[in-house]
This record gives sequence, C-alpha cells and structure tokens, in this order.
Amino acid sequence: MQTSSHVLVLNCGSSSLKFAIIDPRDGRELLSGIGESLGESAPCIRWKCGDTKAQESLESNAGHTEVIQFLVGQILSQQPALKEHLAAIGHRVVHGGEKFSHSVLIDQAVINAIQECSALAPLHNPAHLLGIDAASRAFPDLPQIAVFDTAFHQSMPRHAYIYALPYSLYRDHGLRRYGMHGTSHRFVTERAAEILNLPLNEVNLISAHLGNGASITAVKNGQSVDTSMGLTPLEGLVMGTRSGDVDPGLLMHLGNHLGFSIDKINNLLNKQSGLQGISELSNDCRELEQAAEQGHSGALLALEIFCYRLAKYIASYYAPLGEVDALVFTGGIGENSSLIRQKVMEYLGGLGYRLVPERNLQARFGEEGAISADDTPMTLVIPTNEEWVIARDAAALVPPDRPCHDALTRE
Ligand code: AMP
Repeated sequence: MQTSSHVLVLNCGSSSLKFAIIDPRDGRELLSGIGESLGESAPCIRWKCGDTKAQESLESNAGHTEVIQFLVGQILSQQPALKEHLAAIGHRVVHGGEKFSHSVLIDQAVINAIQECSALAPLHNPAHLLGIDAASRAFPDLPQIAVFDTAFHQSMPRHAYIYALPYSLYRDHGLRRYGMHGTSHRFVTERAAEILNLPLNEVNLISAHLGNGASITAVKNGQSVDTSMGLTPLEGLVMGTRSGDVDPGLLMHLGNHLGFSIDKINNLLNKQSGLQGISELSNDCRELEQAAEQGHSGALLALEIFCYRLAKYIASYYAPLGEVDALVFTGGIGENSSLIRQKVMEYLGGLGYRLVPERNLQARFGEEGAISADDTPMTLVIPTNEEWVIARDAAALVPPDRPCHDALTRE
C-alpha cells in the first residue's frame, strides 16, 4: 500500500515548462526544474532533486513534449520512488474565462473549453494544451487537474468586471475584466485567515502580489471582489516591463501621430514599459534599488511611481471592502523588498499605516511576518506558494475510485 502520494505540478509557458513534484499535505518540494528556450535553437533543462542540481541540453527545437519525455525517461527513471508515488498531475492554466470558478478534473470538455479561451490568453492557453497532451501520453494512468489563474476572481461582482464600453462587447465577445494571479491571491488569503485566526469566509484583505508581473486584489469574506488586472495582465499596477493603467487615448495618439502599428504598441506596453521603461535601466527591482542608492535618477523615479501607483490602488480598495483586516505583501518584490514596502506605507500614512523598521527588515527571504506597528492597520508579508495550491487542488480532485485517493486526502 502507498504510504505517500505526490503531485506533479506543470506550468507550461510559451517557451518554457516548469515542473515540480510536491507533497500536497505539507507543500514539500521533492523535485523541481524548468525546460527553457523551447522551440528555439538551444533549449535546455535544469532540475534540482534534494541537494543535487543538474542540467542538460535538449535537441534543437525541442518543445513541451520533449521536456516531459526527458522528465520521465531520464530524471524519474533514476528516481523510481518519486515516480511510483505520483498520484495526479496538476496544470497551471492562465485563462479559464467565465467557465471555471474552481479547479477541475480534465476531460475532453475541459480541453475544449481551455481551447475556447485561447483568444484571451494566446501565449499561454495553447502551451497549456500542449502540456496536457504530452502529460496524458506520458502518464496515461494519472488523473490530470486544471487550476486556473482566473478562477479566484470569478466571484467579482458585475460592477467590478464590466468595462464602461458598449455592453455588446461583453455580451457578444466576452470582453470584460477577468484578473490573474488568482492562485497566489487565494494562497495568501487562506494563510492570512490562519494567521489572523479568522474564519476564511469572514476575512477582508488587500492582497498585493508584486513580482515581475504585479496585481492587487480586494478580498471580502474570503472572496475576490476586485482586482487590478483586467481582460489581460496589462491593466493595473506598474510592473517589470508592463505599463499597467494608461490613458486609452494614448494608444490612438501613438497610432495616429507617431505611426505605431498595433504590434509595436503591444510590444511597447508589454515589454518596454513599467520599471524598465521608466528607469531606462532594468525591470529588476533589486537592480533598481542598488542603482537608486547610487543616485540613478531613472531608478529613483521608477521606484517612486511603482510605489505611488500601488498606494493609490490600496487606498481605492477601501471602497469595496469597508473594513480591512490586513494588507498583505507577496511575490518576489512584496516578499523581499523592505524599501518598496516602506515607501508604500509612507504614502498610506493618512490611513493610519505605520511599519516597524526592524519587523520590515526581518520579513524577507522567505520569512513570514507582521511588519506593522501595534494598533495600526495590520500589514503582513506572506511568501506565496502557487505550486502548493495546485498540488492541493489536484489531490482533492483525484476521483474516489483511484487507489491513491485515501493516501492523498489523509491529513
Ligand atoms: P517574481 O516575478 O515573483 O519572481 O519577482 C521578481 C522580482 O522580485 C524582481 O523584480 C526581483 O528584482 C524582485 N526581488 C527579488 N528579490 C528581491 C530583493 N531581495 N529585493 C528587492 N527585490 C527583489
């Protein structure tokens, strides 16, 4: 009889495939790795198992299928116990449109629905389908589960997700705000409820996921009621290379007066803007902090705009929430940058926010903690763990008639 059962978590991007084997009961990572530059001339795969790290080149143009074949044929064949204990495969899927408000066991209808949402996530959903196909061939006996980035935000009310555009664009084409990073916002919501000792369905939070991509979510009674990303991940906060909110009139100006094509505007807003665009130096917050310390004016301005815009979003979420139990920082920047957190809190002084510098410095590099002064609005740093959510959801959805079901669901 199996004593433990693990989940293979797959995150397929357009030219990369991240994989991890996770114990869903405690989030322990037994193997992790990434296939990169897929479909290009020199793809490669790197992985880590325990203390051992390794990497190999893959054949030119190798894609998602070849990465999964390598995982099964080369990596797991050396680790038979890991393979034996696999009970399910959990796939991160970026866009589930309005069809999915929860994770689901994948069948042909789910595959068709992910395909139908491809227009809303053209870089991601087709890659997820490649991963699902390759994984189902490599592991024909394992159930596969889809966990959607958009699912957590399906609880938003209509007044939060409808754009002030002709309503027919929503009715006929599904053009509305969907939000992303839902798996991360959900993880920190559940963790914050535990820390605050509140029932999940009573917790009110402002959750700021700040990484290279960044979004902020208003969580009321444990559910997303508003979020900063929209139809695409471009809306909202300043990000590493994305602009976040801009005047839509700017796009017409770029086209009509500067002769920019749609492709060029797309590239400008997604790849050349944000921290990178403002600083003319880097999209990387760490690098900008170092440059700002040396007085680099672009870096100083980029960090200031990032914090100011974030603070404005935080303040605006008092409208949907009324009472806020905690502001939560997560993501690479939220979890590590004491400088960004400090600057954001300074902007929010009028709302009573104040942090304790020692607590702020303490909560970095994977350390969870409260950084606010006592008797001021609670502010938490919570390292996110999207893979664990995917593993937990996958474990919970393994059909009861599977032999591994009991081991997976046992606490
Ligand atoms: P993510 O996309 O969540 O991996 O986050 C990536 C971002 O986190 C990059 O902008 C990094 O510079 C930033 N980051 C990671 N560690 C630190 C740190 N110690 N201080 C400031 N920013 C950091």
